Amino acid sequence: MSTLFISDLHLDASHPTLGRLFAQFLRNIPDDCEALYILGDLFEVWLGDDDARPEVTQFVDLLRETTAKDIPVYVLHGNRDFLLGEKFCADTGCQLIQQNTVIDLYGQRTLLCHGDSLCTDDEAHQKFRALVLSDAWKNDFLSKPFAERVAIAQGLRDKSREETRQKPEAIIDVNQSAVEALMRENQVNHMIHGHTHRPALHEFDLDGQSATRLVLSDWDETGSYLNVSAAGYQVQDIILDDALQQQA
Ligand code: MN
Repeated sequence: MSTLFISDLHLDASHPTLGRLFAQFLRNIPDDCEALYILGDLFEVWLGDDDARPEVTQFVDLLRETTAKDIPVYVLHGNRDFLLGEKFCADTGCQLIQQNTVIDLYGQRTLLCHGDSLCTDDEAHQKFRALVLSDAWKNDFLSKPFAERVAIAQGLRDKSREETRQKPEAIIDVNQSAVEALMRENQVNHMIHGHTHRPALHEFDLDGQSATRLVLSDWDETGSYLNVSAAGYQVQDIILDDALQQQA
């Protein structure tokens, strides 16, 4: 049996390769897969569960196909798709899970989060995060007409892109003290997250015990997933079948 993890696809109509990679990935999930975890930012932006544009509903249909095959799909909010809600779950069969959910991963207690809450040196992002995660902001945003939500989201993305360009590299990575504090609080030695787009396995000492932090890769021209089984873990690349055919 195996458990798969992905994050940070940032699915977006302006980047159709991502959608094709995602479709290929879902349709080729190995038979021994007992669960798929999506650790945030599946979508570049999520404007509300009432989004009926075909470029969005195609992914809802794909996820529905997957859960219909009795593969449980668990989804964490990212900092871009934090408005995924109950209707999305009903439409796809996916289950939303909370940040910092601890699962038993083949005998190892493992904490799952998107990762942005650990970037505590990025004060501007933490301020923004606190604002948009408030019920008041979310309810106000979701009550606006769809076209207006599109415009607001575009403005926020432009602003975020500009700010990220100006931030020093270290500030947009996780803070090690925040990582260790979260692990202690939840009594875990293992953590998996995404968000930073810095895929790696970090091994360190936590109060005399060995601890690991696995960071998932974002997707671009190729995809990537983490496959964990009782035997260990593997990172697998996803290359479009068409691209392979063209190379042959
Ligand atoms: Mn993110």
